[in-house]
Amino acid sequence: MLPWVVRRTRLPLLALRCVHCGSESATTGKGRFRVNANGKLLHVWLLVRCVSCNWTIKLAVHERVPVRSFDPVVLDRYHTNDPGLVASTLLDPLLARRNRFTLDWEGAWRLDAPPSWPDEAWPVQVEVVFEDPVPVRPDWLIAHGLGLSRNEVLRRIKCDVPLRRTTSAGFTFTVMAGD
Ligand SMILES: [Zn+2]
Repeated sequence: MLPWVVRRTRLPLLALRCVHCGSESATTGKGRFRVNANGKLLHVWLLVRCVSCNWTIKLAVHERVPVRSFDPVVLDRYHTNDPGLVASTLLDPLLARRNRFTLDWEGAWRLDAPPSWPDEAWPVQVEVVFEDPVPVRPDWLIAHGLGLSRNEVLRRIKCDVPLRRTTSAGFTFTVMAGD
């Protein structure tokens, strides 16, 4: 089984309407949280910026959560803008749902596939692993990864998931011998 890995190369942009200029693209930049204490309750926001006008948009991560319910280590990571926590916060589907944005993955990921096709007996099996939740259409990914046309993909690929349905979950496929 050949391994293919889908991984991000940077953080994706956010498709999010700016109230200041109306543009629909925002970036996390280097990643910054804001933590506010209100008595014993904490608010945590992820700060993102409009790509056009630099307006700051606050995305609610935690609202009115008792301080004592935070792990001190995690709280410290919010205070120091820990890059790993910025990434996992941004990629958490709950954040997107709560703050009504979608992620724009264009140009923010790559496919790592073995450089040369090994001299294996047909058919060849490939396992696709997602290190990050990048939404891809299997038929597009396979065509791109193997340098095949969409028609060839339909003819030569047997796949355990629907080829045209966008997914971010791992799958396997089999490449049958060509003509
Ligand atoms: Zn703007």
